[in-house]
Amino acid sequence: MSDSAPTVEEIALLDRVQAPEGQGREIPDAATREVLGRAPVQTVADLDGAIARAKAAQPAWEALGHEKRSELMLKAADALDANAETLARILSREQGKPLNGPNARFELGACSGWLRSAATTVLEPEVLVDDGETHAELHYRALGVVGAIGPWNWPLMIAIWQIGPSLRMGNTVVVKPSEYTPLSVLAMISVMNEALPADVLIGVSGDREVGARLASHPDIDKVMFTGSTATGRKIIESSAGNIARLTLELGGNDAGIVLPGSDPQAIAQDLFWGAFINTGQTCAALKRLYVHDSIYDAVVDSLAVIAQQTPMGNGLSEDNVLGPLQNKQQFDIVNRLVEDARANGARIVTGGAPATDLGELFYPITLVADATDGMAIVDEEQFGPALPIIRYSDVDDAVANANRLEAGLGGSVWGDPDEARRVASRIQSGTVWINSHGGLHPQVPFGGVKSSGYGLEFGVAGLKSVAATQVISG
Ligand code: NAD
Repeated sequence: MSDSAPTVEEIALLDRVQAPEGQGREIPDAATREVLGRAPVQTVADLDGAIARAKAAQPAWEALGHEKRSELMLKAADALDANAETLARILSREQGKPLNGPNARFELGACSGWLRSAATTVLEPEVLVDDGETHAELHYRALGVVGAIGPWNWPLMIAIWQIGPSLRMGNTVVVKPSEYTPLSVLAMISVMNEALPADVLIGVSGDREVGARLASHPDIDKVMFTGSTATGRKIIESSAGNIARLTLELGGNDAGIVLPGSDPQAIAQDLFWGAFINTGQTCAALKRLYVHDSIYDAVVDSLAVIAQQTPMGNGLSEDNVLGPLQNKQQFDIVNRLVEDARANGARIVTGGAPATDLGELFYPITLVADATDGMAIVDEEQFGPALPIIRYSDVDDAVANANRLEAGLGGSVWGDPDEARRVASRIQSGTVWINSHGGLHPQVPFGGVKSSGYGLEFGVAGLKSVAATQVISG
């Protein structure tokens, strides 16, 4: 079944946020490349105004107290739930991800879940010393205005990861969505603002210049950034000026290690989705798969069977669970890396050339067997539907290669759980999953090491990262 005509609700919600006819920047539908809507083009002056409003609104928001803020945030989550299907359809068009599978509807469910979790997580003051002579407590207070800068791959969910804890702690938030996916984020903010007081949450749709200003603005107290490592470095530099605290969720190149003795067929489905969730456009997706020689061919064959059975196409069709690349730039990266792998002797098992029959930015699931470390498709983040599969015979070599790169976001080990845990402790990454890859939970902290960034999101640790500490002593 396919229903690609916009619904009345979609049109009405888009009209709430898009630029008037004849103005703004046209945003294409990722699958059809037809115009989806017009993003407002806001300037640095507009951003300055938004930050001033957020700053003015912050003391009253903080003064409401945790209970009242929590109540309003839960109402905002209710509003998201009430508009989930409409938002999922706008997201599917703009980002490309299908409605079904671990995609658009799933993303809206996660937005509501993470917002509710942030709204109800409690961060109590801590008694540090109480020995009769000294009484010292550590309190967590609002920082002020948080600048939230996000990417285009999971635009709504990642925005909520930044917004939820910030609001919970009494901060106000100015959000700068990716210029590739502004409409879905602005639409989500508009829905949340049905429940939130004015100027507590403001979206500003602009380009990189606006992002740079948000990160360096003197009235920004904290920057929550998710995006590339290159942009992360620029934000670190700008924080020298405003001394904004930073949480940086940057690029990943997660390795998965399949130990000898694993059952290839039993793990194939989870390996597949670990790598290809959101058609591979996921920060903590499995991007390099190291498989022991003894089961290498069986793992490759099992993955190939799933690749051939998994439907790709326009996301609005209920049948599809894989979509296009979101943008031409990312499409070109995937294409280049696959061509380079082929030229360097890798074996293309499935896919390997653009799926032009499906549309301009579709690239099929591409399993790249006999890939070796040092190939560009192994060493660079592909961020798309192409997975290099590397053969190993000594687990020490696999661990060394997993740790060889600068990225350190996630990783996974597959096999006997005890043995897998021992190997996991040797992997240099912020998270290591055992017999799965990429699963997240709103109470389990998430963050990278090495060039994948610093700072933790989610749960109590996530609240601490958007709070100012104050010691009350005496
Ligand atoms: P990007 O760095 O190009 O852009 C991210 C955001 O930064 C955009 O909103 C952009 O406008 C803004 N920006 C650009 N220049 C800026 C500057 N100088 N100052 C401030 N903001 C600026 O990243 P992208 O291509 O949108 O996202 C893909 C990357 O994000 C991948 O590397 C991926 O691994 C990473 N990512 C990481 C996580 C994570 O949780 N670690 C999650 C999703 C994506």
